[in-house]
Amino acid sequence: MAAKHIIVIGGGPGGLAAGMLLQSKGFQVTVLEKQPYVGGRTSRIVRDGYVFDRGPTFLNMPHILEEAFQESRKNLHDYVTLKKIEPMYELVFNNMSFFPTTDKQEMYNRIKQQFPGDEEGYYAFMEGTKKRFDKLMPILQNTHGQWRDYLRLRTLKAVPQLALGKSLYDVLSDYFTDERLKLTFTFQSKYLGMSPWNCPGAFSILSYMEYEYGVFHPLGGMNQLSEAMARAIREDGGTIHTGTGVKRVIVENGRASGVELESGEEMQADEVIINADFAHAASTLFEQKDLKKWNQKKLDSMEYSCSTFMLYLGLDTTYDAPHHTIVFADDYKQNVEEITGTKLLSKDPSIYVQNGSVTDESLAPEGHSALYILVPVPNNLSGINWEDEKERFRDLALDILEKRTAFKGIREHIVTEMITTPKDWEESYFVYNGATFNLAHSLDQMMYFRPHNKFEDIENCWLVGGGTHPGSGLPTIIQSARITAGEIKRGERQGRKAE
Ligand SMILES: Cc1cc2nc3c(=O)[nH]c(=O)nc-3n(C[C@H](O)[C@H](O)[C@H](O)COP(=O)(O)OP(=O)(O)OC[C@H]3O[C@@H](n4cnc5c(N)ncnc54)[C@H](O)[C@@H]3O)c2cc1C
Repeated sequence: MAAKHIIVIGGGPGGLAAGMLLQSKGFQVTVLEKQPYVGGRTSRIVRDGYVFDRGPTFLNMPHILEEAFQESRKNLHDYVTLKKIEPMYELVFNNMSFFPTTDKQEMYNRIKQQFPGDEEGYYAFMEGTKKRFDKLMPILQNTHGQWRDYLRLRTLKAVPQLALGKSLYDVLSDYFTDERLKLTFTFQSKYLGMSPWNCPGAFSILSYMEYEYGVFHPLGGMNQLSEAMARAIREDGGTIHTGTGVKRVIVENGRASGVELESGEEMQADEVIINADFAHAASTLFEQKDLKKWNQKKLDSMEYSCSTFMLYLGLDTTYDAPHHTIVFADDYKQNVEEITGTKLLSKDPSIYVQNGSVTDESLAPEGHSALYILVPVPNNLSGINWEDEKERFRDLALDILEKRTAFKGIREHIVTEMITTPKDWEESYFVYNGATFNLAHSLDQMMYFRPHNKFEDIENCWLVGGGTHPGSGLPTIIQSARITAGEIKRGERQGRKAE
């Protein structure tokens, strides 16, 4: 019997992981990627000898990726070298810096020294959140395509450890009194593009995961994970076409039967997996009449995550600064409210800097360094005119860095520079509303309420990536691919039995 042909639309980490898992199990996979390179938001930018990650710079829970490689009969460590970052990051508050570590005794000591009286709260947090993590992980790893999955969740709401009715900030207030320490354990909600004051308390597992498992950097950058999965697909006989945009999914009697490329060519498939940003795909790859649920009206009614303003700088010097630095706005709560609520451009933004060259000399020529600066900003529903704002905002970000971090005199050392605004994310990288972390992760947009891994509107059509269950963030996206690939394999087995 001929192998089932699977077309994957989009070669981001979600699409590549699904392709790798399925190709290794005997399916015939074709990945179609619109850009001339693979990786999507997890790709690299090479400029004048400097290498930058376009998006992700933190790898959490590498064991999820290791497992996906094992399931594909491969060893992740044959493809990439992971370095653990210790201390994990420097957190810059208005009057002090704090350097969190995964070493529990050392972390306790640092809290005791810098936030006396809160040190016992740290152990209580780790213990309490472990229980929450153990309860939540199976929920996140399961499929959520049916009503009974939702009922299971409703039953779980009764489990107090999940803190589903509390905000993340409230949950952390149970453990710590110092504001800065509460932020140390809640700022991770930004990874989902959310505010600690609105994000469900259950997401305290994000900081727990960091403190328990650590933060890693793959040599060459996070983009190397995408490259590794692409290599794995090709080694097993799968095909990846870059520079090949899909114009539409061909739907016949409610079933996906293939795709039409932007070139006009048609390709047949037994199953179609969509990895392109979900709302972008739903609004461009289908005829509205074929979408019963995820039509434009429904997309317009959804909440979207925040966006990011990016500065990639090649410097002719190096700075003795940590791999990751996070500078908190003096009024962090207001900053977060402006990003996610009122959608205004903050006058006092928070800023994240990756000085990857301190860990990885492959990112820049000797004596030089590659600096990545990310400023969380509102998505494009804000109406901000980025053409007018971008130079001023770039200067503001550099002023803050010069004033509050080790990056003094940085402007004098810039050899090459690239800016990506929310407008660019939308127009050049096909991210709906420029919402870089996809649909927001409020409870009413998660699990059963997020677009299902088996696309609800079209038969033989599947989703992977940050727009489906379980959500955005690399480990979660890899998990989405495991769920989708698992369901496709199950369907194949059942089909064979029925024959
Ligand atoms: C700035 C930033 C920082 C982040 N930081 C982190 C981090 O530190 N850690 C972490 O775990 N996660 C992080 N993330 C979140 C997440 O891990 C990445 O965004 C991830 O790349 C999303 O993967 P994906 O597979 O869902 O989609 P994408 O990476 O967006 O891939 C989708 C692909 O589909 C392609 N496509 C779109 N339309 C078509 C079409 N019509 N035809 C063919 N191809 C198409 C796109 O070109 C793209 O390559 C970050 C994201 C951003 C943007």
